[in-house]
Amino acid sequence: MKPLLIALAVALYSSDELFAAQPEPQTLRCELAVIGGGSGGFGAALAAARLGVDVVLVERGDQLGGNSVRGGVNVWEPVIGATSFPFELYQRLKRQTNTVGIYSMGRHQSTFDPAREAYRYPGGETVIDSKRNYLDTLKRHGLAHANLHGVVFEPEAMSDAMLALLKETGRCRVLLRTKFKDVTMSGGRVHSVTLQKVEFTGNRSTTVTQTLVADYFIDATGDALVCAKAGCEMMTGQEARAQFNEPGAPEKATARVNGVTQIYRVARVAKPAVEPLPEGIPTNCWWGKTFPVAQISQSPNGDLIVNMLPTMEGTEFMQLGYHKAREECQRRVRAHWHDLQTRCDEFRGYRLDWIAPQLGVRETHRVVGEYVLTQNDLDAGLSGPKSSQGIPYTATLMNPATPPAARGAAQALGQAHRAHRLA
Ligand SMILES: Cc1cc2nc3c(=O)[nH]c(=O)nc-3n(C[C@H](O)[C@H](O)[C@H](O)COP(=O)(O)OP(=O)(O)OC[C@H]3O[C@@H](n4cnc5c(N)ncnc54)[C@H](O)[C@@H]3O)c2cc1C
Repeated sequence: MKPLLIALAVALYSSDELFAAQPEPQTLRCELAVIGGGSGGFGAALAAARLGVDVVLVERGDQLGGNSVRGGVNVWEPVIGATSFPFELYQRLKRQTNTVGIYSMGRHQSTFDPAREAYRYPGGETVIDSKRNYLDTLKRHGLAHANLHGVVFEPEAMSDAMLALLKETGRCRVLLRTKFKDVTMSGGRVHSVTLQKVEFTGNRSTTVTQTLVADYFIDATGDALVCAKAGCEMMTGQEARAQFNEPGAPEKATARVNGVTQIYRVARVAKPAVEPLPEGIPTNCWWGKTFPVAQISQSPNGDLIVNMLPTMEGTEFMQLGYHKAREECQRRVRAHWHDLQTRCDEFRGYRLDWIAPQLGVRETHRVVGEYVLTQNDLDAGLSGPKSSQGIPYTATLMNPATPPAARGAAQALGQAHRAHRLA
């Protein structure tokens, strides 16, 4: 009798009605609750569900994929070993037209050659390269700039592919537009989490509160929000060198965190023009000496994805808070795009088409775990130049404030085949 019951339960979970918008009970139960449906949360939920675990995945947005979908990043670099879920997603997306492609590096301001190029590109460029395949993206470690490849995808299609893979397990309930709010502890463990969902009927909205009880919880919020509510010790900014013995850390702790980027997309237009600036937005860069450089990626449908490096410094973001920072970043997007169009003729054939619904936040808080991964761990796994030298390669070259000596060193590193494309 038992196998029949299990089979029935799986069949019920698999049905469309139960997967999505059923009226949900006030208390949900599962074996594993994954909070946050970005790349990390998706991977955790899929792996567990395929192992037979009963999973609930909670995501506050209306799509899965987090930074890589709602933040507009739209690219990933599979690197060696990425032959499982990333490859499955890639194959899924390949079934549709213009939803995924393999990129190669295009122009880059650090490799500007006046003999071949009309002007210095305003950052770095990646272009869809039909001669490349997924295998090329796996050979990343220690390659020259020209041989770096990654996957670029359309965000909606990626979220749909993620949802489809989870649904096919028959063991994962996905709660979209559902926000994690708090934890209830019992005996030093998280017993349950409180969730809030806003439901709309016509122009009226109601907030539905739910409790999710689980045997295990995974915090995949990117900001360690569940850990913070559970009372874990948190840290932010740069620690002093002595704390973890990291050679790249400053001598004294600082509040500095990585910058945030409001990614935007531009689409082709028939009639080239410089788009007028909305009222109240200056033509100059009011937050820095010059407009930031950008990583500009060709998307599978032909749009360009513009990733400013960055739109706002991390410390300013932390001071302003998410909503004010996003408002300000959207103004900066307009000014940045206007500047690109004014300076570079090639961008006049595009118009601003989309601003990512979520700010691309690279760093906020971290958990002080029983073991903290450090630069030394990363370096131990690398041959050749170490992470502190290699990782900022492209950033260093593209940053106009980089002193000439550091620029020369970074260039040499690039030539020594240690290029890491900047996120
Ligand atoms: C601007 C930018 C550019 C990047 N460029 C690249 C690149 O070129 N190549 C590359 O490989 N990587 C790049 N990255 C890194 C990559 O995007 C991230 O490493 C990856 O998206 C992290 O995934 P994650 O699941 O850990 O976090 P996230 O993507 O941040 O996902 C966290 C999820 O949790 C959800 N969440 C948060 N709080 C709550 C809550 N209270 N309740 C419910 N859900 C919640 C969020 O909505 C989100 O969906 C870039 C990142 C940024 C910000």
